[in-house]
Amino acid sequence: MTAAVDLHVHTTASDGTLTPSEVVELAHRRGLSVVAITDHDTVSGVAEALERAARIGLKVIPGVEISAEQAHILGYLVDHRSARLNEQLERFGRARLVRARQMLGRLESLDLSLRWDAIAEAAEEGVVGRPHIAQALVDAGHVASIDEAFGRYLSPGQPAYVPRFKTTPREAIQMIRDAGGVPVLAHPWCIVFMLEELVADGLLGLETHYRSYDACQMSRLNRLAQEHGLIRTGGTDFHGFEGEAHSLGDVDVPPECVADLEALHASLSGS
Ligand code: AMP
Ligand code: ZN
Ligand code: FE
Ligand code: FE
Repeated sequence: MTAAVDLHVHTTASDGTLTPSEVVELAHRRGLSVVAITDHDTVSGVAEALERAARIGLKVIPGVEISAEQAHILGYLVDHRSARLNEQLERFGRARLVRARQMLGRLESLDLSLRWDAIAEAAEEGVVGRPHIAQALVDAGHVASIDEAFGRYLSPGQPAYVPRFKTTPREAIQMIRDAGGVPVLAHPWCIVFMLEELVADGLLGLETHYRSYDACQMSRLNRLAQEHGLIRTGGTDFHGFEGEAHSLGDVDVPPECVADLEALHASLSGS
């Protein structure tokens, strides 16, 4: 069954394959009522999504997913027009460009040349990442699939892998709070050991519902959220990749999550 809510969605503003407008239209077609746009390290897709959503009567929650060391921190209801937030995020974008060039250099030394043009469009539009390089390797005929590109070259430990500049979870949480948003720990299962520290740093929520989590995991995460006084969120981490098993809206997110998120956000801004 399709859930009415998906609070973890990527677009072409980072490494998703659908534009913000296309995501909103797909969500509408699938009967969703609320979608949060949470691109990696950028809010550049939010305005387009809000605009399209207003026209078709869907609710879009502005968001971001900041890649910190060890943890990804989702930021909901951030002020996506905040100059400070955008400046801080642009730092990540510039670092990603440098890193993409380094990865292309490594591929070149393996005799797997890629022209910069092959990923330039992605680089210009948003946040360039390994998925773009993987796709370019497929398009150039160097590998047969995205999986092979990651498995042989792009995953940690493989010869073309270059780590990305990452901030600390504490800084990510602060950036989100400074922009008026609610920081939530994304896909937290393997990093719950950090939870106490993150809560001390100002974390306010936990992504208890995630595409690959079973009932047992979700119930443990629900308990942790309750123990730490955190709100719960959930989503699919949709990227629109071909064959993506869990497509938009396929996680049953409790509908009260959105009301709780909005209430917490209102209390932060004192309105
Ligand atoms: P980056 O932020 O550039 O390091 O790229 C990370 C993104 O690559 C993740 O968000 C995933 O979407 C994608 N990714 C990571 N590992 C794999 C893999 N083995 N196969 C396909 N996609 C992957
Ligand atoms: Zn991604
Ligand atoms: Fe993530
Ligand atoms: Fe994600």
